[in-house]
This record gives sequence, structure tokens and C-alpha cells, in this order.
Amino acid sequence: MTDTSPLWFDPALCLIGGEWLPAASGETLPLMNPSDGSEICRIARGSEADINAAVAAAGAALEGEWGAMTALERGRILTRIGQLVLERVEDLAVLEAMDVGKPLTQARADAVALARYCEFYGGAADKVMGETIPYLDGYTVYTLREPHGVTGHIVPWNYPMQIIGRSVGAALAMGNACVLKPAEEACLTALAFACIAIEAGLPAGVLNVVPGLGAEAGAALAGHPGVQHISFTGSVKTGALVQQAAGANVVPVTLELGGKSPQLVFDDADLDAALPFLVNAGIQNAGQTCSASSRILVQRGVYADVKARMAEAYTALTVGPAAEDLRVGPLISARQKQIVERYLEQGSGLPVAAQATVVPHAPEGGAYVRPTLFADVPEDHVLAREEIFGPVQVLIPFETETEALRIANATEYGLVASIWTRDGSRQMRLAKQLRAGQVFINNYGAGGGVELPFGGVGKSGHGREKGFEALYGFSQLKTVAAHHG
Ligand code: NAD
Repeated sequence: MTDTSPLWFDPALCLIGGEWLPAASGETLPLMNPSDGSEICRIARGSEADINAAVAAAGAALEGEWGAMTALERGRILTRIGQLVLERVEDLAVLEAMDVGKPLTQARADAVALARYCEFYGGAADKVMGETIPYLDGYTVYTLREPHGVTGHIVPWNYPMQIIGRSVGAALAMGNACVLKPAEEACLTALAFACIAIEAGLPAGVLNVVPGLGAEAGAALAGHPGVQHISFTGSVKTGALVQQAAGANVVPVTLELGGKSPQLVFDDADLDAALPFLVNAGIQNAGQTCSASSRILVQRGVYADVKARMAEAYTALTVGPAAEDLRVGPLISARQKQIVERYLEQGSGLPVAAQATVVPHAPEGGAYVRPTLFADVPEDHVLAREEIFGPVQVLIPFETETEALRIANATEYGLVASIWTRDGSRQMRLAKQLRAGQVFINNYGAGGGVELPFGGVGKSGHGREKGFEALYGFSQLKTVAAHHG
């Protein structure tokens, strides 16, 4: 670290029980900058020993001050964390841009969202109530919402701040103590958030952060018998492994596993309103978004128009280093670039409606791919079925509402869908029939509000985060039946 380094903490340490410690093994891993391929710093290579210590520290915190704290006091601490995050939006955005390759504007929005989660869950902490249940004569029956205990949070690299906010924020509001395993590709804002949480007065051991590899620290956390709930966001393959590991301990799991989310554009849609959403939902965060819209289904009457307008928008996209704050940054890594390029090769027989270019001065070592819009894509083509996790969208024409619905529902995923039409009856019909955890009518994402429950069906996962719903997920219900005669 130099005087000009944006790091205000030692990135090579874990936070365990309120202390910043190197990994028990003493080993570290390189953390790379995807904009140019350079090494930013070393991070701790946490493993089973560190996870064991972190779970023990979280358990001890539950036995101490944290476990005895009122919901109001927990909420105040969370709200204070949110205020400090807001004061440091710029610092956090610079870290995230460097680490994830996110253009600065998008990184700033993520930092503001992190603050918003802390404010929302800070305010909600003392508003989660049980019920009284009418029962037999002589009984009074009521329910209590209690924390699970120690919660594990396995976070990916695409939206570290937002995902930490929605899962750790809700877990803390309900009085759990957390062990957070950030992704090995991007963990700086997890460590920065932990610094801020301590500064805001979060007691030692309530939030523990153990960076490291998925197969080491991640697997140790997922299978730890001292953990009572796991929240995982990432790939289907890893999600299934996490669920299996937690299942061995009969531990509940929330899985958020991505999607192949469609937008359905009908002949009567307001195309001027739709266009920015059609494109942005595919290229935001370079397409590395679980709720990215990678399938654009368009009715025949407006197909040529939508294709021409989207192609024009693609041609105007600017792609380059995160610090330059263009529309699209690099992918997270050379590995992710290879994955996306393999998909682009598989689309080589398809018509390309448009392809954006990367700025000529983009560093050689950066993980850049050209955002690509494919046209006339058969619904069963691999690009129309598999999650690509890069800035690639496919246009699929359809004739009727029935056909659109069938195509929209024909993937294993079901995270998000949107409907662009002025026909109110069609809006209501499709909102019910689309297989997705969230449906948007004449918008996409609704600004990502923290208030809106989020999660998938099918291979997109199960359980809901965000909104009040997450507070139910991060707690368990106890029924108390008193017999008083
Ligand atoms: P991943 O699912 O393997 O990693 C996500 C998190 O899980 C990371 O923190 C990782 O360290 C951890 N992990 C990995 N193996 C683990 C294990 N055995 N036990 C416990 N934790 C483990 O994802 P990836 O390898 O970074 O990316 C691969 C693909 O996953 C991407 O191409 C993309 O399609 C998808 N993905 C989806 C999301 C999403 O938001 N839905 C996020 C990241 C990646």
C-alpha cells in the first residue's frame, strides 16, 4: 500500500472476533484488476481453520452483548452503518471499480444501495412482529420471530456490495451473527464494509469476514455444523454443492442462482419507453447480473423496428476501463472472458444485429469483450437457453401471446421477466402465467428497490431476499401456547 492507494485497510487479513488476522495458514492469494490484468494486492487465503474460528466467534457474540441487545438497538447500529457507508460512497465506489471492473457510476450506485439496505433493515429491525392465534378455550397462543443463530453468507463477485447489503443487512436486523465469505475475485468492499461496521459500533464477532477460495473457505462454511443458515448467490453448480453440504447438517439454505430472464415486447408497446430498458438490462455490469435480461422476445409487427433501434443503441455503447466510467467495463476475469467468448463462437452461425467496440486504448491485459446483439435466434439455440453472464443478448421473434409465453417459460430458470404492452388484460394474464420470481410491467427492475422481495423459481434458486420477506427468511418462528384455564 502506498500513500495514494485507495485501500484504507490491510486487504491481506480476515476479520474474526473483532480482530484483523492473517489466514491461519499464512497464505495469501493475488487479487486482480480486470481493467488491465494487474495485481491490486494480496488477500488472505482463508480456509477451514479460519472458518472454524469465525463460526466460534459468531457463536460467542450471540452469547454476549449482541444476543442480549434489543431489536431497536440493533436497528440503530445498522442505521449508523448505513450513514457511514453513505459518507464513504466515493471511497467504496473506487474500490469496487478497481476490483470488479465496474464503471464508476455503477459502482457508486451499488454503494448507495448498500447504504439503503442498512437503512431499510435498520428501520425494520424492531417492526417484525409475531401473531396471536385464536385457539381452544383456556389457551393463549402467540408466535415469536427468533434469529437462526450463526448465518453463513457466500457472496459472488458481480455485485459484492448489494449482495452483502441484502443478506448480511437482513440477517443482522434479526439478531443473527454472520460469517461472510466474499468471492476470491472481488473482496475489497466486503473488508471495507466490515471496517465501517466496526466503526459504527457493531460488537466484535457479530460480523466476521473470511476471504478465500470457494473450494476451501466456501466449502468449509457451507458444511460447518455450527452454522444455522446459509445464504448463497452464484452459479447453479456451486449452489447445488452448498445445498448438499448444508443439508448434511439439516441447515436451511437460500439460493440465488441467476437466470435467462426475458422481456416480452408486444406490437402495442411504447417502444420509446422500452428501448433503454431493453438494452441496459443486458449490458449493465457487462451482463454479469443474475437478473440480466438476455432474451428479448419481440412480436413480429415491431420486430424490425426494435432490432434497428437496439442495434443503434449497441453501436453507440462505449466499452473500456472502469475508471473511465464508460457504459460497459471489462468482465471480472480472463476466465470469464473465455467463457463468454466461447458462447460468442457458438453464435457464429447467427445474424449479428450489432456489436459494440472496445476503446482502442483499453489495456491489453483487460478482460474486455464486445457487447453483441444476435437476431432471429431460434428459441432452442444454446444462446437462448444458457446463462452467458456477459454483454450478449438475443432477439427472438414471436407471433402470438401464447407463443411468447411458451418461449418465455421454456428455460430451466425463472428469476425475472418483463412485459411491454399497453393492453391491461394482457399485463394481468401474463404477470400470473410467467414463471419468475419477479415480473415487471412496462419497466425492467423497477430501479432495483431494496423493498422488493427477490429470488427465483426452478434453477434460479429458492428463498427470497430483499424487502420484509428476507427478515422472515433470516429468522425462525416459535409458537408459544400457554394454558391458563
Ligand atoms: P461460483 O458460484 O462458483 O462462486 C460464487 C461464490 O461461491 C464465491 O464466493 C465462491 O468462492 C464460492 N464457492 C465456490 N465453490 C464453492 C464451494 N464448493 N462451496 C462453497 N462456496 C463455493 O461462481 P463463479 O465460479 O465465480 O462463476 C461461474 C458462473 O456462475 C458465472 O459464469 C455465472 O454464470 C455464474 N454466477 C452467477 C452469479 C449470480 O449472481 N447469480 C454470480 C456469480 C457467478
